[in-house]
Amino acid sequence: MRNFVYHSPKNLSDAIDAVTESGGDILAGGTTVIDLMKIGVREPSALVDITGLTDLEGHEIGADSLRFGALARMALVADDPDLVTAAPALTESLWKAASPQLRNVARLGGNILQRTRCPYFRDTAYAQCNKRDPGSGCAALDGGVTSHHAILGGSSACVAMYPGDWAQALIAFDAAVHTHGPGGRRTIPFADLHVLPGDTPDVETILKSGEIVTGITVPVVPALKASHYLKARDRESYAFASASAAVGVEMDGDTVRDVRIALGGVATTPWRARAAEDSLKGKPLTEETAREAGRIAFADASELEGSAYKIKLGADVVAGALMTAKSRAPGGK
Ligand SMILES: Cc1cc2nc3c(=O)[nH]c(=O)nc-3n(C[C@H](O)[C@H](O)[C@H](O)COP(=O)(O)OP(=O)(O)OC[C@H]3O[C@@H](n4cnc5c(N)ncnc54)[C@H](O)[C@@H]3O)c2cc1C
Ligand code: SF4
Repeated sequence: MRNFVYHSPKNLSDAIDAVTESGGDILAGGTTVIDLMKIGVREPSALVDITGLTDLEGHEIGADSLRFGALARMALVADDPDLVTAAPALTESLWKAASPQLRNVARLGGNILQRTRCPYFRDTAYAQCNKRDPGSGCAALDGGVTSHHAILGGSSACVAMYPGDWAQALIAFDAAVHTHGPGGRRTIPFADLHVLPGDTPDVETILKSGEIVTGITVPVVPALKASHYLKARDRESYAFASASAAVGVEMDGDTVRDVRIALGGVATTPWRARAAEDSLKGKPLTEETAREAGRIAFADASELEGSAYKIKLGADVVAGALMTAKSRAPGGK
């Protein structure tokens, strides 16, 4: 690890100045950023520790929206019994992430901005990685092991998977991200925060230099209560998703009035499966229509040699998640 300057601002304005002037990395729980520094992937000249900005902690369940501070700890949000009832997909996706120790330390702002787990990105012994070293190539696409890479949203420059769980629940329910930076405050639809790799996989979000995520809001809709996050992975604990789905449904009798489907473990960014949603609206939700929605969700997938299994697994996960969500809807069985 190289030497770096440590800043510990006590208010947002000082934090923005410190990040902008130092060009350093923002430090929240540190479970991504310190990890990457230890393995030599990140070598920031400065770290701006924002954990002293206590105004950014906490979360609230409002009548119209759920509000999460960027420094709320994953564990405290995942274990809130009122939120478990109000928005199960949001708590389940946190609860199924990482380990209890990590969830106690990691914050929600850091969680949505976590970096890929592509082994070639994380191992500097591999010279080829367009995300770590733009223009160097892609070791995964150049004959690497691709069993945990993306089958949706990839490019000829990068197929790294977005690894987080909570983001799928956020994109499914039209969350918004609130930021404050040198240019002032702004609100970004969560669906616009992450960008596809294209030719510049090193650019992962639309955040500008010095821009700090202050919070996240989620509008309250009936489908939030009848929601579920289903995660398939190599082992039942402490593993990233091989395929996952955050879903929610609102039923009108036997007919689907509203449905949300987002996919994890399979795409380069948090991924909303809108065509699959459209296939269900106004129709009954049965094992058969759920399976068809799962199939449609992966209709545009481009699998690599190692990742072909994700298409069937992902479709099954979508179908299973939908049936659980339906069972949570009023009158659902
Ligand atoms: C062994 C292991 C297993 C894991 N398994 C899972 C899993 O199964 N599912 C899952 O979802 N995650 C998993 N994770 C990832 C973990 O959830 C994230 O590392 C964590 O949520 C990041 O939060 P943090 O507060 O530690 O962020 P940090 O490491 O402090 O920051 C992460 C990134 O966000 C930036 N950042 C942080 N806060 C802000 C802010 N407010 N504004 C702007 N930029 C900011 C930082 O500069 C950095 O680039 C795992 C991590 C480990 C180490
Ligand atoms: S998939 Fe992306 S992160 Fe992985 S080696 Fe290729 S360029 Fe790097």
